[in-house]
Amino acid sequence: MGNIDKSKQEYEKAVDLMPGGVNSPVRAFKSVGMSPIFMDHGKGSKITDIDGNEYIDYVMSWGPLILGHADERVVSKLKEAAEGGTSLGTSTVQENKVAQMIIDRVPSIEMVRMVNSGTEAGMSALRVARGYTGRNKILKFEGNFHGHSDSLLIKAGSGVATLGLPDSPGVPSSIVENTITVPYNDSESVRYAFEEYGDDIAAVIVEPVSGNMGVVPSTEDFLQELRRVTNDYGSLLIFDEVMTGFRVGYNCAQGYFGVTPDITCLGKVIGGGLPVGAYGGKREIIEQVAPTGPVYQAGTLSGNPLAMTAGYETLNALDESTYEELIRKVDRLVEGYKQASIDYDIPLQINRAGAMFGFFFTNEPVFNFETAQNADLDYFAQYYRAMIDEGIFLAPSQFEAVFMSTAHTDEDIDKTIQAVRTAFSKIETK
Ligand code: PMP
Repeated sequence: MGNIDKSKQEYEKAVDLMPGGVNSPVRAFKSVGMSPIFMDHGKGSKITDIDGNEYIDYVMSWGPLILGHADERVVSKLKEAAEGGTSLGTSTVQENKVAQMIIDRVPSIEMVRMVNSGTEAGMSALRVARGYTGRNKILKFEGNFHGHSDSLLIKAGSGVATLGLPDSPGVPSSIVENTITVPYNDSESVRYAFEEYGDDIAAVIVEPVSGNMGVVPSTEDFLQELRRVTNDYGSLLIFDEVMTGFRVGYNCAQGYFGVTPDITCLGKVIGGGLPVGAYGGKREIIEQVAPTGPVYQAGTLSGNPLAMTAGYETLNALDESTYEELIRKVDRLVEGYKQASIDYDIPLQINRAGAMFGFFFTNEPVFNFETAQNADLDYFAQYYRAMIDEGIFLAPSQFEAVFMSTAHTDEDIDKTIQAVRTAFSKIETK
């Protein structure tokens, strides 16, 4: 890598302007011992910083850019859409088209409401679940992240885990009391929680593959058990598919696992890089939302023409074969990591589900938040900096996913594997 002097200069300005110089904590490079790199533009699989260094990008805006940066199909339609007005504040045909596509592909969704972020999707899904069941409590899992709404910011993953923060000040204790948190992939703890509080649990919310404590897929029986126990107690099952939606596979994680939730939260890919979220589910439940029902939820920019255009063009470019191809590329990359870990004697766990994948620097299996903590953060930081030097851009945290796009070429992947080998050869092991 060349120098990042301009990034450093901009960072000095930014820290005075915004907390930590960033608008989202996951963009800080604190845990890898660097200051943030300021990016200038992206095209295909590449992203270029303001000093002119080009990287192969595996962040892909944290998941939305499944077609890579600035895909022609998306950009040309966005230009057209912008000419027609950036927001109309009324119903548009584009909203119908995206809604129909989501309903056609997501097994649990019969009706959907668009919002502007994954956070809003999770927050609104909880309100609907509470309104529908007349109950107060929700059950979530340690290390799962569902955005930053009060009820869900408890024992959360993503930046909360990266920064090692305790539960956030500012969340009232009356709210904390209504969130039950148990270990991921632990059916016994779920059953125990239901025996104690089952009659007041409105919903269980889960990432069917967690991508916010690193990538941790649910074990085979876990989601089935969640389905069973929520049915038994009359609670709703919410899948937070903000990351897994159209990432794990064509029919999302619920298609991949064959388990159907009552409500699904979406975001990231369905917005193709613009601010979009959505929640949907059984008609009977989603009809509780205003104006058909009493549960209130609204948004000035919800379903706006630019967001719906980017979402439509992105979803339209995906079919079953897209995922076969993504999985083939993930296979190729993962095989390279595996071989490098053997050749350089680096402890490495590879976790995968469909086209979603991630790595941990440990020899122990990682199946929940506690086992994710076994990962060696010093190895990760060394690897991270070496990968930046080799021109590979990854999320600056051990507790995040790696994102492959349709724009990544076999050549990109082979270059990445070579970079991994160089990085692993440089790690000072203990
Ligand atoms: N749920 C999950 C599973 C996520 O991964 C994220 C974001 N990484 C969110 C919710 C929150 O989405 P947003 O950042 O769009 O608010």
